[in-house]
Amino acid sequence: MAAAHAFRDLYGYEPEGVWTAPGRVNLIGEHTDYNDGFVLPFALPQRTAVAAARRADRTLRLHSADVPSGPVVLDLAGLDPAHAPHGDDGWAAYPAGVAWALLDAGLPVGGADLHIGSDVPTGAGLSSSAALEVATALALTELYEMPLTRPELAALARRAENAYVGVPCGVMDQMASACAIEGRALHLDTRTLEQRHLPFDCAAAGLRLLVIDTRVKHALADGAYARRRSDCHQAAAALGLTALRDLPHTELDKALGRLDDPVLRRRVRHVVTENERVARVGELLRAGRLRETGPLLTEGHVSLRDDYEVSCPELDLAVATAQAAGAYGSRMTGGGFGGSALALIDADAEAEVTRAVRAAFRAAGHLPPHITAAAPAAGAGRLL
Ligand code: ADP
Ligand code: MG
Repeated sequence: MAAAHAFRDLYGYEPEGVWTAPGRVNLIGEHTDYNDGFVLPFALPQRTAVAAARRADRTLRLHSADVPSGPVVLDLAGLDPAHAPHGDDGWAAYPAGVAWALLDAGLPVGGADLHIGSDVPTGAGLSSSAALEVATALALTELYEMPLTRPELAALARRAENAYVGVPCGVMDQMASACAIEGRALHLDTRTLEQRHLPFDCAAAGLRLLVIDTRVKHALADGAYARRRSDCHQAAAALGLTALRDLPHTELDKALGRLDDPVLRRRVRHVVTENERVARVGELLRAGRLRETGPLLTEGHVSLRDDYEVSCPELDLAVATAQAAGAYGSRMTGGGFGGSALALIDADAEAEVTRAVRAAFRAAGHLPPHITAAAPAAGAGRLL
């Protein structure tokens, strides 16, 4: 096993175990998780593997095969969000943040050596960050025999990203990586964390779900994400709601009439219609009517593009081209301003859609996209 070999080569002894956690795509339910809403992601076959062993002292050594420099060495006693690793070592804030979150929760984590290997592309909207956090959290909690439930594990991983790395993400990515089941998509209520594992079998329906990684990330992503969050919280407060999740679809028009700001109206319309789309896609999946989810996926893209304003030319081109080449539905997935798009297509149209998207990107002068077909894989687990 590659991660175990790499651990031995690096540290000169055998790891006690190898734990892995997957990246994810979100089928529908974008920018709803920080509004206490609904999401419907599934785990990707691409995974992050953490080979790890306990140490007798309070030292944490962190190394990633994707980072050329040697291990980042930290003292557990000195972990502090105000002094998180940064610059070239900034990646180490993700696993170090997990150790910090465990300690901060009063859990008995000790020193450890970690080697990290991954085939989840970073920054592609496929949640390499949650894969890294969840694999690390599972490794440390199993090594130190802390019996956490998967939702507790996801909450700790999210806390690491929010409070230690400083990224204000919702809980979707960590829940998908920690709780997903092979062959199923995860219908998640992000307020109650109620999970429903719904069948998602493209092959049986003669379909494919393509993941089109545009390989771009636009600089405005982080600032825009924070602004969308505050737009939503401002709109919820103006409407006297705890969160936009509490606005039923049937009362949307009335509520929009009570908001003066046209920008806030559009943001609210996206979140409320998106929660409704999650419900409808969920019902279709339960009924095995996969193909019929297509138009809802495309509607979701239009809403993200026009009302939520988080798409970009590369994502719009991927979606438009896939649609023109016969996709049943297509949308951006993840936070936006780059990253990946999804296209639901006939299985035998894969070559044609792939060719069309590549050609369109070439003609527009964009980087060649990475295009793969995805089916729901298992959530985090112990490999060795
Ligand atoms: P996404 O989660 O969509 O891939 P993020 O910006 O949230 O994008 O997280 C990507 C960051 O997570 C990387 O820039 C890096 O700091 C860290 N990361 C993820 N996977 C790894 C890895 N295998 N090795 C080192 N750092 C990683
Ligand atoms: Mg991420």
